[in-house]
Amino acid sequence: MTNIITHDILIVGAGLAGSWAAMTAGREGVTDVGVLSKLHPLRSHSGAAQGGIAAVLNNNRPVPGTGKRGPLEQIPPGDPDVDNSDLHMFDTIKGSDWLGDQDVIQILVDEAPEILYEYEHMGCVFSRTPDGRIAQRRFGGHSSPRSNYAADFTGHVLLHTIYEQAVKHGVKFYAEWYCMDLIIEDNICRGVVAMDIETGELHTIRAKAVMFGTGGYGRAWNITSNATANTGDGVALAYNAGVPLMDMEFVQFHPTGLYGKGILMSEACRGEGGYLRNSDGRRFMEDYAPGLMELAPRDLVSRSEQTEIEQGRGVGADKKGIYLDMTHLGAEKIMERLPQVRELALEFLGVDIITDPVAIQPTAHYSMGGIPANSDCEVLADADGNLVKGFYAAGEVACLSVHGANRLGTNSLLGASLFGRRAGISMAKFIKDGAKLAPLNGDPAAKNQAIIDRFKNAPVDGKEERFSQIAKELKIVMTNKCGVFRDDARLREALEDIKALQERFKNARVMDKSNRFNNDVLGIIETDHLLTFSRVIVESGLARTESRGAHSRTDHVKRNDEEWLKHTLAHLTEDGSPKLSYKSVEVYYDRFPPQERKY
Ligand SMILES: Cc1cc2nc3c(=O)[nH]c(=O)nc-3n(C[C@H](O)[C@H](O)[C@H](O)COP(=O)(O)OP(=O)(O)OC[C@H]3O[C@@H](n4cnc5c(N)ncnc54)[C@H](O)[C@@H]3O)c2cc1C
Repeated sequence: MTNIITHDILIVGAGLAGSWAAMTAGREGVTDVGVLSKLHPLRSHSGAAQGGIAAVLNNNRPVPGTGKRGPLEQIPPGDPDVDNSDLHMFDTIKGSDWLGDQDVIQILVDEAPEILYEYEHMGCVFSRTPDGRIAQRRFGGHSSPRSNYAADFTGHVLLHTIYEQAVKHGVKFYAEWYCMDLIIEDNICRGVVAMDIETGELHTIRAKAVMFGTGGYGRAWNITSNATANTGDGVALAYNAGVPLMDMEFVQFHPTGLYGKGILMSEACRGEGGYLRNSDGRRFMEDYAPGLMELAPRDLVSRSEQTEIEQGRGVGADKKGIYLDMTHLGAEKIMERLPQVRELALEFLGVDIITDPVAIQPTAHYSMGGIPANSDCEVLADADGNLVKGFYAAGEVACLSVHGANRLGTNSLLGASLFGRRAGISMAKFIKDGAKLAPLNGDPAAKNQAIIDRFKNAPVDGKEERFSQIAKELKIVMTNKCGVFRDDARLREALEDIKALQERFKNARVMDKSNRFNNDVLGIIETDHLLTFSRVIVESGLARTESRGAHSRTDHVKRNDEEWLKHTLAHLTEDGSPKLSYKSVEVYYDRFPPQERKY
């Protein structure tokens, strides 16, 4: 075998989850930690996050001894002076439409303040209250202002901070290395195969512990807020290696993507007081969520927008948009708190949000589903809680499940950081307890090289397909048939379309035969991944005959706890279809029993 690299811990993904895990493992005394990233680490999608990171800090309470408040002009419902972790927990559970596992949500809310203070102590440049505390604003579905932010580029400052710390702890980063295979045999993880994108060379990387922090899969839709790299590689690789995927039918559509583009206009626009208006100029949210209005959770706001659009009250050239109106906020506030959002609207639609409303539409945004893991980020092999030894997952690629059927804004940066840290601790313990490198069979790098060679060279008798065309068609299918609203007929059509695209993909070939920076090769592998997990999303969604959170079926409009208060697990079978099984949801019936979800 050639090109073998070894590490104690190998992490795939350098976003917040991966970088926190690497930094923490280093801090816990593991000196041999490697991180692979297909992008430069600082280009990970975490860096694009805008609005904030959740934690109860109560920084809008009066400053002791002065009676003065922080910067909050908008008094939220309830008593703004008191926030606590039980409220954060309840909001998260309600947001999740009761599908979130409450034992893990408890950890999320309990450890949140600690994560914020760690960031602060590492020198993270947050926006501040007049007396110097971390500034907090409101966000959808949260009953108190607990979004901690740095203007509207929060992810950027968090990612830079944690990357610096990981480098300081001696972590080895492999920037622009692409992981194309995960090696698991007998439920033991043995390593990965990765390509050094600069040379095109493949390497087998063995490690005692492997973690995936590979982020989300919004790129399966043609209107998405996600970066081009968010192609769900991690979920597809794990699924192909025999790991089940959990709750894949739950995909979040963010209510405010720039019209026709999908680029995110942060929820902070509404957190700072922005309005949504239909073509009549009406704030239609009063018909759907009179209590929270524009600050209802995302699934509800996206459905409300879609309903307005479908009933003919949309705006824009094809009437598929809605207005986001911030003109009443004033230039000063916009320039201080939403400067990036203003720039995006100016650059991509030529609209200045200081003076004019901007058209937006729902955009594929966040993957609630993913690789199932427990609260120590150990990956589950099945519904009984058996583990894949030596394999860990955290961040958006993982499903723990803290976000259930619908994530609340700002809980994701929190979850990626916090569970990244927990993954680092649990992998360090695994190594210190004497974990060994698991033996390898065969030559995995050579096997993967053969796949690439086939994409480049195998004859196709004139039936050659362009993978980019297949990807394009898939995204249209997912947008039209597996979007904000779903039903049996559309999902069945989507499934047939995907199967047909998978057939055509067998004849897909790359034109560029070179080795260095060959984007064609990466593109064809990513297209394969998109097809693989899209099929799981559609089949899991077809089976779930209820509406819960982001999975909204017009033919089964109610949530059905009796039948469906359970997580979906999908295992790959030989004929390429998923075998579905189910796993119970952890509910604290004495504290947070399921309720009807009203806002
Ligand atoms: C525009 C936008 C704004 C957002 N705003 C907020 C917000 O304000 N608050 C909030 O809580 N959440 C927000 N989110 C969600 C949040 O940013 C993400 O869920 C979170 O940052 C994911 O972190 P991660 O570490 O799991 O993955 P990412 O940051 O996406 O990182 C994934 C990493 O995996 C690597 N990778 C992937 N595949 C491979 C492969 N095959 N080989 C090698 N490396 C690979 C990538 O290079 C990258 O380093 C936002 C998301 C978007 C898209």
